[in-house]
Amino acid sequence: MTKKYSVLDGHNDTLLRLFEKEGGHLHSFFQGSDQGHIDLPRAQAGGFAGGFFAVFVPNPRDKQATSTDSYPGSASRKGADGVIRYEIPMPKPLGYEYATRTVMSMIRLLYAMEAQSKGRVAIVRTADGLESAIADGALAAILHFEGAEAIDTDMNALHVYYAAGLRSLGIVWSRHNAFGYGVPFKYPAGPDIGPGLTDAGKRLVDECNALGIMVDLSHLNEAGFWDVAARTSAPLVATHSNAHALCASPRNLTDKQLDAIAESGGVVGLNYHVGFLRADGRSDQDTSLSEIVRHALYMADRIGVDHLALGSDFDGAKMPTDLKDVAGLPRLTAALQDAGFSDDDLLKITHRNWIRVLRETWRQN
Ligand SMILES: [Zn+2]
Repeated sequence: MTKKYSVLDGHNDTLLRLFEKEGGHLHSFFQGSDQGHIDLPRAQAGGFAGGFFAVFVPNPRDKQATSTDSYPGSASRKGADGVIRYEIPMPKPLGYEYATRTVMSMIRLLYAMEAQSKGRVAIVRTADGLESAIADGALAAILHFEGAEAIDTDMNALHVYYAAGLRSLGIVWSRHNAFGYGVPFKYPAGPDIGPGLTDAGKRLVDECNALGIMVDLSHLNEAGFWDVAARTSAPLVATHSNAHALCASPRNLTDKQLDAIAESGGVVGLNYHVGFLRADGRSDQDTSLSEIVRHALYMADRIGVDHLALGSDFDGAKMPTDLKDVAGLPRLTAALQDAGFSDDDLLKITHRNWIRVLRETWRQN
């Protein structure tokens, strides 16, 4: 009998999927369906205790370029050396007003999810609230922005969103904005692409520190990463990224970046997207769970199990067929156990490391 762990997860795009594919309706979320990766029945079946619910603003002109379908299939090509390469054109920066309207509707959707859940979903704002939601068996939802396009450079909106429950912020999704520059979807390539944070981006980090909002480094380019590292008073966190040494995507972290995260007491959430796992960078779902295990072992060996967590990218990426969706999590934890991770390691990886880092980051609360 394999043990079912409570999994706190670094990143999902379930709000985006419900917003785009379900017209903002929550029926399928509560009743369950075979669409996407997360709904309440499947979450309960898989031991999914909750995590970061991303508010991501899709591009208004070309939704394809930012949805689940954006990852390379036919767009990739094989070079004379046999290596398959791809580069997806980056969508244009978003306007503040459009971003704000979209963010509002997605936050409202998360509030509706909590309100209609009869106590089965709880938006958490403190580390104590997070721990009690998990203890009560409620799905703990942390409000996260993937990209700061809806925040003005005077930071007024940041304070309002904090009051509305925002507790985690990715300065950029891959497209650039007023605060910084992200990494492209390209293979093979490193994350050292483009300039660091703008002055507004640096002030944004300071303001997040002062409020107790976690700054997420996933999607940020390397110069921006080091700007945050030099400035922040909180542990460094990448919510959904893997090891660049094993898969040369700019979305993954170099050894130096991994070391810096560990030295700060932070954490990396492993991303299950097949194109960020496989050594060949291909977006092929016929990918074994052992690819996730390979990244877990590499990171545990390099930076220690205290700095390793999970960050699925459910509902925003292509999952290995063996995992399929959130209900498949016990198969993943069993595979990690088979690879030598102890029960204590798995408790850390599945939720304790996240709780430790969030307790420190949200310490003002
Ligand atoms: Zn992402």
